[in-house]
Amino acid sequence: MSRDRKLVVGNWKMHGGLKGNADLLQGILAAAPFAAADAAVCVPFPYLSSVGVQLADTEVTWGAQDCSAHEQGAYTGEVSVGMLQEMGCRYVIVGHSERRAYHGETDQLVADKAKAALAKGITPIVCVGETLEQREAGETESVVKRQLSAVIHTLGPCIGEIVVAYEPVWAIGTGKTATPEQAQQVHAVLRAQLQAATPRADAMKLLYGGSVKPDNAAILFSQADIDGGLIGGAALKAGDFVAILKAAA
Ligand code: PEP
Repeated sequence: MSRDRKLVVGNWKMHGGLKGNADLLQGILAAAPFAAADAAVCVPFPYLSSVGVQLADTEVTWGAQDCSAHEQGAYTGEVSVGMLQEMGCRYVIVGHSERRAYHGETDQLVADKAKAALAKGITPIVCVGETLEQREAGETESVVKRQLSAVIHTLGPCIGEIVVAYEPVWAIGTGKTATPEQAQQVHAVLRAQLQAATPRADAMKLLYGGSVKPDNAAILFSQADIDGGLIGGAALKAGDFVAILKAAA
């Protein structure tokens, strides 16, 4: 991986439908090529197949929003990384704060999912981030370092192959964006932690996520340790997603 180009990943969450997805992707593809950024969309499991057909042979890659840490077996409702691989996924988001909060995902489970993804050649986008309560208690650094540390210990030398997304929980879907300085400060902490773990840290992509919009993307992406974004709400409108991709220039 190199940091020459930004990476902008849409997280569609539990939104979409066959017709709307096709229109959204058509709108994005109509604006390609994207000179300074690589684009990807992480879509709900049932749409991986149709999205993969529409995006095949384009510059936009796709992925999922979660995976099982298990290879296969009696895990009703779970989706394995092998299945994602068959669907052509390039990325899988793991440890999104919504999964940590609503599904009780622990730091270790998130790390195990990242390991399972890498074992099949899919790049995990590992999310870390503090709640408002934790930020106000001055715990931001210790929380994100603890979350990342589980992944570092579980992956060992392979840590250099992941993408990290710093997503302050208080900024997700709230319209409250971290200031570029707040975001950069945490990214620098994460980069330093990775530098202590791998010689490849300087080439790793660290994304910022949390109410990124066309009007704040450029300043966020211009920070020294911000290599792109994980985009929720604004990834559901072709015009906004394209504007964010172009803001990377
Ligand atoms: C997200 O869910 O990953 C996210 C960053 O959402 P939003 O852009 O809507 O804040």
